[in-house]
Amino acid sequence: MHRLTLGDFELSIFSDGTYPLDGGAFFGVVPKVMWSKRAVADERNYVTAGLNSLVIRTEHPRTGKQTVLVETGMGNKLSERMVKFYGQPAKLLDNLSAAGIAPEDIDIVINSHLHFDHCGWNTVRDKNGKILPTFPRAKYYAPEGEWQYARQPSERDAISYLPENYDPLVASGQMTLLKGGEEIVPGITVKTFRGHTAHMQGVIVRGGQNPHPISAKNAEIRVGQPQGRTACYISDLIPTTAHIDLTWGMGFDLYPLDTIDSKKQYYAQAIPERWLTVFTHDPKTPWAYIEKDDAGTLVARAA
Ligand SMILES: [Zn+2]
Repeated sequence: MHRLTLGDFELSIFSDGTYPLDGGAFFGVVPKVMWSKRAVADERNYVTAGLNSLVIRTEHPRTGKQTVLVETGMGNKLSERMVKFYGQPAKLLDNLSAAGIAPEDIDIVINSHLHFDHCGWNTVRDKNGKILPTFPRAKYYAPEGEWQYARQPSERDAISYLPENYDPLVASGQMTLLKGGEEIVPGITVKTFRGHTAHMQGVIVRGGQNPHPISAKNAEIRVGQPQGRTACYISDLIPTTAHIDLTWGMGFDLYPLDTIDSKKQYYAQAIPERWLTVFTHDPKTPWAYIEKDDAGTLVARAA
């Protein structure tokens, strides 16, 4: 169980399971002789990818107790063809339930983007085929640019957008579309990081003032500093700890040069301020502190 306290917030990781993904697609232009040192491929060249959701419990004098769910995995509505490729682990609701969290307990759902492996449990199909919100009381949020794009995606990634994961929620008014930069509840904001898609948003959780401020210059070169009080669900900008190098982007990225720029921008703040980074697709290490070692190499230090 991955759980920690970040200032005013309690953070926990819940998985929707793992699935097989082509290693070449996962690591883009990185040669297999290099990525195979960080991820084990099977005889079909598949590696194991995780589906990590983040639950944030907040208590605030103004807004009271809230339970926020960031990302809803792959869900249980995949077509037979998609199941052939990815399986359909569909473990999120069971894993939440094991921790005593029922769908009715979720107040807020945030999707970083609308690819099928990030918003699958937004909705379920009832026995008559009707699409219903999985989390009936929740207010849902997703990037507006993603939703606009998803209505007319490119041939390249059209397969990744399944309208039943979001269109019924937008139509009913249960999903609010975000420009980027909004504060969803006090301390939880979204920020656009272009690269994987044009409008993907990271979710930044600020649990209060950093107790040990140090200069950015020192932080860049010292490993093992005490943790900060900010976390970021960085989604597919840095999908696993194996992808922390600037040039290790996924083959799926629509704007690979922007992925590099966005990572630079992220590290410029996240490393000196010692943010906890949450990795969507890492099957073993769902969160870590990214640091620079003495040689200037980026390393992920387990939380
Ligand atoms: Zn993804």
